[in-house]
Amino acid sequence: QSKSEVLASCNLSQEQLDSYWMPYTANREFKKNPRMIVSAEGKYYTDAEGRQVFDGLSGLWTCGAGHSRPEITEAVSKQIAQLDYSPAFQFGHPKAFELAHRITDFMPDGMDRVFFTNSGSESVETALKVARAYWRKKGHGTKNRFIGRVKGYHGVNWGGISVGGIGPNKAMFGPALETSHIQHTMLPENLFCKGMPETGAHLITELEEMIALYDASNIAAVIVEPMAGSAGVIPPPVGYLKRLREVCTKHNILLIFDEVITGFGRMGSNTGAEEFGVTPDLMTIAKQVTNGTVPMGAMITRKDVYETFMENGGPEYALEIPHGYTYSGHPVACAAGLAALDVLENDQLVSRVKSMAPYFEESVHSLKGTQYINDIRNYGLAAGLTIEAAPGEPMLRPYQIAMKCWEKGFYVRYGGDMIQLGLPFTVEKEEIDSLINALGESIRELD
Ligand code: PLP
Repeated sequence: QSKSEVLASCNLSQEQLDSYWMPYTANREFKKNPRMIVSAEGKYYTDAEGRQVFDGLSGLWTCGAGHSRPEITEAVSKQIAQLDYSPAFQFGHPKAFELAHRITDFMPDGMDRVFFTNSGSESVETALKVARAYWRKKGHGTKNRFIGRVKGYHGVNWGGISVGGIGPNKAMFGPALETSHIQHTMLPENLFCKGMPETGAHLITELEEMIALYDASNIAAVIVEPMAGSAGVIPPPVGYLKRLREVCTKHNILLIFDEVITGFGRMGSNTGAEEFGVTPDLMTIAKQVTNGTVPMGAMITRKDVYETFMENGGPEYALEIPHGYTYSGHPVACAAGLAALDVLENDQLVSRVKSMAPYFEESVHSLKGTQYINDIRNYGLAAGLTIEAAPGEPMLRPYQIAMKCWEKGFYVRYGGDMIQLGLPFTVEKEEIDSLINALGESIRELD
């Protein structure tokens, strides 16, 4: 379809197309070549032409249980009719408490206090603020510095881009928080490794050196994704997270796991923490908690962190932390979250991820040897491929590959020099085969 046909079929004018400044999008390219999605069901989108397109990233890592689940639709419509909004500050509604408790069922033991936000980025800001405030409440007012990791992605707000480790996300915005970064774990010896690489736990030595440099008395927290997602799916090396935990504990530094992608099933466990056997002090979640239907996120921590604020909160009528969002614990998001977690549990989707992961692993690694593929990594139902840069145009090929896939009826994510796959938890083997075939063909068709 030509651009004018797409616009006509969506009943949109050029002016309307121009009005929307799209996020994380090459606006000029999109507006020349609009790819409009008009509906979704299960694992497939329908585009403006009426084509069915397989959802190879579960939305944006959000919709593992598939789109338009009737259980969630029903819960959300009922909730809007019953209580569309209630003030988030100083008053409560039952579903927020119900969902907070329900979320803790999916968390590692001891992670049982939930602070609601509306996105991954807000969850990260919340975790960073809670970390600093926690140390102040404890009388350690100099513990201010945060340590992130190169290639980490923690959303787009000031704290998140500061601890984040993807250069282009920071470059045009000027100074934010002063932070330090430990090295990423993509070592040359780990290329084309299936699942967790064997080598890399030794990299934690760098964190110890950093602590020696700044002194633990000046460091509030270390933040990492247990498996880096947006930088192209980088599973942790064997033993790496355990050593990270040990070093943070030894030096009295909080450990934050950003589980916005890894929370609620993607790894084949309820969380990355559970899958990799390491419990942080603070966790951030979003995306899959409502199956992507209504924006929601949360920061989750231990009772004793929460109690530190309660015990040092001043008079009982005073706020223990002046932080929160108008839409924290929004009733509609809570209804969606409760229904989405029921779906996850009733359909046993987390164990389904685990059982499909080996087939997906073999399938995606069968692309090894295809031109321009410099690396393939995977874990659970997530995979990342590094694509060799075209001369002078490092980001061109992933874009071309994703567009070819789209034409063939498959949505995959591209960004930087990567292609990312995040399959729906309900994916069938034949769908994995078709997706990987289409991806392979798209790469082979490049000049
Ligand atoms: N943290 C991680 C690990 C993410 O993957 C993302 C989004 O992909 C975010 C934070 C930011 O989430 P949001 O886009 O909902 O703000």
